[in-house]
Amino acid sequence: MSLTVAIVGRANVGKSTLFNKLVGRKLALVHDTPGVTRDRREAPATLGPLTFTVIDTAGIEAGGKDSLELRMAAQSYAAVADADVCLFVFDAREGIVTADQIVAQYLRKAGKPVVLVANKCEARFSSASEAWSLGFGEPLQISAEHNIGFADILEALMPFAEQADADDKAAEDEANKPLRLAIVGRPNVGKSSLFNLLLGSERALTGPEAGITRDAIAAHWQAEGRDILLHDTAGLRKKARVAGHTLEEMSVGSTLDAVRFADCVVVVIDATQPFEKQDLIIADLIEREGRAILFAVNKFDLLENKAGAISKLRDKLDASLPQVAGAPLIATSATTGEGLDRLLPAVLAADRAWNARVPTATLNRFLEDALERHAPPAVSGRRVKIRYMTQPKSRPPTFALFGNQLDALPDAYIRYLTNGLRDTFHLEGTPLRFLLRSTK
Ligand code: GDP
Ligand code: GDP
Repeated sequence: MSLTVAIVGRANVGKSTLFNKLVGRKLALVHDTPGVTRDRREAPATLGPLTFTVIDTAGIEAGGKDSLELRMAAQSYAAVADADVCLFVFDAREGIVTADQIVAQYLRKAGKPVVLVANKCEARFSSASEAWSLGFGEPLQISAEHNIGFADILEALMPFAEQADADDKAAEDEANKPLRLAIVGRPNVGKSSLFNLLLGSERALTGPEAGITRDAIAAHWQAEGRDILLHDTAGLRKKARVAGHTLEEMSVGSTLDAVRFADCVVVVIDATQPFEKQDLIIADLIEREGRAILFAVNKFDLLENKAGAISKLRDKLDASLPQVAGAPLIATSATTGEGLDRLLPAVLAADRAWNARVPTATLNRFLEDALERHAPPAVSGRRVKIRYMTQPKSRPPTFALFGNQLDALPDAYIRYLTNGLRDTFHLEGTPLRFLLRSTK
């Protein structure tokens, strides 16, 4: 994502006017009545050589006359959370008023870089010393309406644009890294058989030369344009060389090593003895480590009654491990080769879910809808309020909830949100995380 700039300030200071000038189109309503710009408006903006995304926010207002209570639309919080830098606008003709102080207080807490902007400076500017009291240094003096000071805005935003470019490049490098895959499971479920079959079929696809490089620790090849690095556990390697099968235990230690190495983990289970305690322990470990997860239901050839078997397993998994509900279940057989062609595509899909990023605006539309359908219950008289949410990171997708009394939010409600997020944004095959940020 390139540079994102949020325009923040109390009502009527000229935020929408500035937004419109930066966007070059009349997107936001401009009106003399405070608070007309209610919704968040986001659009591509151009300023000289710079292109960026600009977000206009609803005004931030003081509650009562003397009250320091902050009344701010959820969208404004979310816009600040999303931005690389905030343009904090005040009205130079009116000078600094309480509402400006409150906005300043909020922005200091939010910890985002701030460029202070004195608007309506077309005639004169007399509030310089007052402006210092906001704690963001000397303001840029502009007039949004009269096109004054835009070169200064450009200069002020430039360093943030360079930083955003560097971050983009780092993210791209990250995305180009190989997908690190591990195959784990109880002894004797068919891990090494599947592993060898998978490498064999990949070798057949890629040809012997382009093929697969394999050393003591890993096998490496390309699938669907993606580099795959398959963790080759000591157990798998040994069996790959020794014909027949050994009965050695796959220790928890080596499973944990494989899981920690991996981005995505395939848990092999035996279709004739599905979801035994040890299978669930392994899956739970992967969930706690926050890796992408899917299941190969192997030895499917041995099942007498194949019809409906997967959907039964689906119910069993979702009931016993709700944390990974919806994780893909692929029926496989290392004997017949069944399902093998579906394994890698499922791995790639789980990895995409694990890397997913949901834009803040989309996320808050989801949240609004979820809250409307089913509001958080009051817990022993305490009113839990969720104001907005963002996704600060992926791998695995991690959502931050902002609001009041969130520590009293019941687990059932988090599960409700989890299921909704999974369904809406196709996040099957990855754990989800929540951070609760209460402001009170
Ligand atoms: P917002 O509520 O912060 O989005 O403010 P608006 O953009 O709606 O502007 C509020 C009022 O200030 C409108 O009447 C604008 O025409 C006016 N305004 C905006 N920029 C300037 C400016 O640079 N100079 C002067 N004199 N008025 C401005
Ligand atoms: P690991 O201990 O999990 O690596 O399991 P192995 O790959 O060594 O397999 C254990 C035993 O199960 C071997 O005898 C395999 O031939 C057999 N096996 C593995 N996959 C399948 C399968 O899909 N169907 C059947 N019928 N047997 C399998």
